[in-house]
Amino acid sequence: MESRVLDVEGWEKVVHFTDKESQLEAIISVHNSNLGSGLGGCRVRKYASFEDGLNDVKRLSRGMTYKNALGHIPFGGGKAVVFADPYSEKTPDMMQAMGRAIESLDGLYVSAQDSGVTTDDIREMRKNTKNAAGVEDEQGRGGNPSPFTAYGVWKGMKAAAAHKLGTDSLDGVRVSILGLGAVGMALADHLHGEGAKLVVADINDKALAIARDKYGAEIVSPDDAAVQDVEVFAPCALGGSVNETTIETIQAKIIAGAANNQLLQPGYDAVLREKGILYAPDYVINAGGVISIGHEFLGDWNKEKLFGALDNIADVLTQIFQRADAEDRPTGIIADKLAEEIFLADSKAA
Ligand code: NAD
Repeated sequence: MESRVLDVEGWEKVVHFTDKESQLEAIISVHNSNLGSGLGGCRVRKYASFEDGLNDVKRLSRGMTYKNALGHIPFGGGKAVVFADPYSEKTPDMMQAMGRAIESLDGLYVSAQDSGVTTDDIREMRKNTKNAAGVEDEQGRGGNPSPFTAYGVWKGMKAAAAHKLGTDSLDGVRVSILGLGAVGMALADHLHGEGAKLVVADINDKALAIARDKYGAEIVSPDDAAVQDVEVFAPCALGGSVNETTIETIQAKIIAGAANNQLLQPGYDAVLREKGILYAPDYVINAGGVISIGHEFLGDWNKEKLFGALDNIADVLTQIFQRADAEDRPTGIIADKLAEEIFLADSKAA
């Protein structure tokens, strides 16, 4: 295995790994470890170029610093990318080599799943390092983060409703969910359980049929999900649902969902604020999964503690909403500021 430290200003450590035998080419990026090891998933993807992969891992690891800080877990921000097609090029040997790469950083980086990486891949990595999480143990603790992400989004949505609608009850509240995957469907279940009226959109007909039959959801096309006459829009599919088209026509008073990078342009949170739409910053409301992974890694995964930490997502959002109003600034900017106050403080001792 060969490794080369890349000189990247503003990032704590970025290392390029190559392993001829297993054909591994990867970059591990730790943006900031003031709060602890850089925790974040490993993504396997056929990038068009080295620069594309480097930019992705830099951006993602920086995002994890902010997310983990506001998730109040003792981890900094890290991420890894493997340059390979997850379907045709990824092999168990390659994932084992990735385990060796992670291990060589001596705990500075802790890995987990991201797109292109399965639980089995994490198990392969763990043959060579302890610093990879996201696998359920024999007692059924930890593992799949999606239910915890969904729980956090539900609680975060309630905090947004309390702030914007004056009640945290979602009984009778109309919610449009775009994307009924692992998180979106679990969110639908929580919302239906509370009496919310659901409008749903997906490209997967099976998921739509389940939501219709189980939750009485109204089905609309994905293009129409953002512009429904609802109180809450919950993007739970891909990024960019708030874009130049939808931003002009969104009817919802609240945007609160699981998807990463919901705003196509960073400045859109200011536009939403001008329009009187409350935006729950995506990386804050969707932190439930990494909070669970963090607890699992620390061997601290018990239901009471974990759900306490997930409920805290609502408190953090409330703080962001109140400060955004007090300072008349967009919620995204306030979230970033709050995160920086945490991870840039003298925080090794936190
Ligand atoms: P998933 O792949 O299980 O589900 C995505 C759903 O979106 C699928 O049902 C898919 O059919 C649907 N979809 C895809 N393209 C679509 C389109 N163009 N229009 C309508 N529907 C479309 O993913 P997930 O794990 O549920 O994650 C959902 C989002 O939340 C992603 O953006 C993910 O990055 C983010 N997120 C997930 C977690 C987690 O714990 N799983 C944590 C943080 C953030």
